[in-house]
Amino acid sequence: MTQFPAIQLRKVQFDPTKVRRDFPILQTKSHGHPLIYLDNGATTQKPRAVIDAISHYYEAQNANVHRGVYELSQIATQAYETARATVQRFIHAADSAEIIFTRGTTESINLVASSWSRAFLKAGDEVIVSALEHHSNIVPWQMACELAGAKLRVIPMNDAGELLMDEFAKLLNPRTKMVAVNHLSNSLGTINPVEEIIQQAHAVGAMVLIDGAQWVAHSPTDVQKLNADFYCFSGHKLFGPTGIGVLYGKRAILEAMPPFMGGGDMIRSVTFEKTEYADLPNKFEAGTPDICGAIGLGAAIDYVMGIGFENFEPYVDELLAYATEKLSAIQGLRIIGTASHKAGVISFVMDDPVISPLDLGTQLDSQGIAVRTGHHCCQPVMDRFKINATTRASFAMYNTREDVDALVTALKKIIGAFAAKSPAVVAPKSMELKYPSATAASPELAADQLAEVFEFLGDRDARNEYLLELGEKLLPLPAGLKTDAARVHGCMSTVHVVGHRRAGDGHRLDFLGDSDAHIVRGLIAVVQKLFAGQEAKAILAFDVQAFFQRIGLEQFVSAQRRNGLQGMVQRIRDLAGKIEFAKNL
Ligand code: PLP
Repeated sequence: MTQFPAIQLRKVQFDPTKVRRDFPILQTKSHGHPLIYLDNGATTQKPRAVIDAISHYYEAQNANVHRGVYELSQIATQAYETARATVQRFIHAADSAEIIFTRGTTESINLVASSWSRAFLKAGDEVIVSALEHHSNIVPWQMACELAGAKLRVIPMNDAGELLMDEFAKLLNPRTKMVAVNHLSNSLGTINPVEEIIQQAHAVGAMVLIDGAQWVAHSPTDVQKLNADFYCFSGHKLFGPTGIGVLYGKRAILEAMPPFMGGGDMIRSVTFEKTEYADLPNKFEAGTPDICGAIGLGAAIDYVMGIGFENFEPYVDELLAYATEKLSAIQGLRIIGTASHKAGVISFVMDDPVISPLDLGTQLDSQGIAVRTGHHCCQPVMDRFKINATTRASFAMYNTREDVDALVTALKKIIGAFAAKSPAVVAPKSMELKYPSATAASPELAADQLAEVFEFLGDRDARNEYLLELGEKLLPLPAGLKTDAARVHGCMSTVHVVGHRRAGDGHRLDFLGDSDAHIVRGLIAVVQKLFAGQEAKAILAFDVQAFFQRIGLEQFVSAQRRNGLQGMVQRIRDLAGKIEFAKNL
């Protein structure tokens, strides 16, 4: 059982049933089960008020903003600017001109990393991020540092997923120009001490950007009290629409920055000789903005404020404590991220029996439970814990103890089924490797056989079950062959493929593959039935995409798993290509 500080379960007065009625999607079913949505860290569901605001905009207010002299354009402009004022109040910015509408957190961070860095980041300067960041608060800074010749430095974390503030203090120096950290970690749920970080960074003259993507839906935000120089968030994680987000920046800093993009609406005057830029916030909003998105975000904020953080925040905290208690009682389950200040997110792995997050997520999905599996766009966090992925449940005000109970019951059922399975087929030693023979005279004939099976199976569940069965029977690769060179990247799980020309028949390809996820092992088995032992020329001539379409793969394999599958197929095609190349020498 996972050990971490005792949890105080409080009785909190908040009725989620009333809130649930505001979210039409929560009344729907998934695979025939009532939808249990526990992926709020990825995106939140939308209340009726937001959906209505969006419909109303298109039904009664749609026109381009800032440009028209006619009434409708003025109505649209007013609605758009009212949304800006709503955001200003929501995060307590001093001035609505400090609110820039973007596409989301990612674009907000990119705007600063591009525009601010162009003016203020020089060779030899340093930018600090933390080990807990989402890729969108790492990659833009890597790009900016590369361009400027600056150095990226990283605040490390401890085993609980808490930033090491002593190490942060050591990283700070007069060369530090920017500190960019998240307020609440999406992968582990750690609440970071951003007030302290801001104070310490300011003490050496550095700017601070806070990625508030996860925070804003959890607790009130006061950018003036925080004294953050930049604060970023996305509408869709705050019960608003996708495609809209916010960059808050202090007026003086935004004014000193060059524009991010050029185009309409961000200019005062244009001649071929010289362009004068518009004042804030327009300077950073080139082109037609997401007017409807901003209005939807305004409606979402009104909705959240109407319910009141003081009412739902303690409730969601209590729900996390309840989930933590229940999940940590499951034998063999290990919670990743046990910080003393946490919110909204619980990440875990299954150690005994080992079950890959991808398999867990797929099985939970078939019971109507939506959780996130993978690296959560935080590969450095996964590396820190020496894992590839976690399963993550993340909570919002409409989740209930019943949702947690359903998750726990489903997990126990899945774990029981995995534990009851015959022990995994033992990996052979490399010298005993046996490559599967061709299942038919050509890939086309093998494809016909497979298509027949898939057609017979019919629905998604039966096909998934078939894949899992194939996966169980697939011979594991010996550990020694699971090298970096054999690794297929782009998959949600760990996948290795090894192969070479067949001894005694150099036109044919022998290959083996393996994955830590049963379902992916099943996909490997399908590809093996298709291509193993076939002539390289026939493999290269075969239209795999058409085959995947023919068996309806897109219906039951998620896009990310499909990317992994494409990667696997590409690796096999590369191996076949090498055989053909050698043959023609
Ligand atoms: N930062 C954090 C902490 C996040 O959780 C996310 C999304 O999951 C992002 C940034 C990126 O947000 P978006 O994809 O909405 O731009």
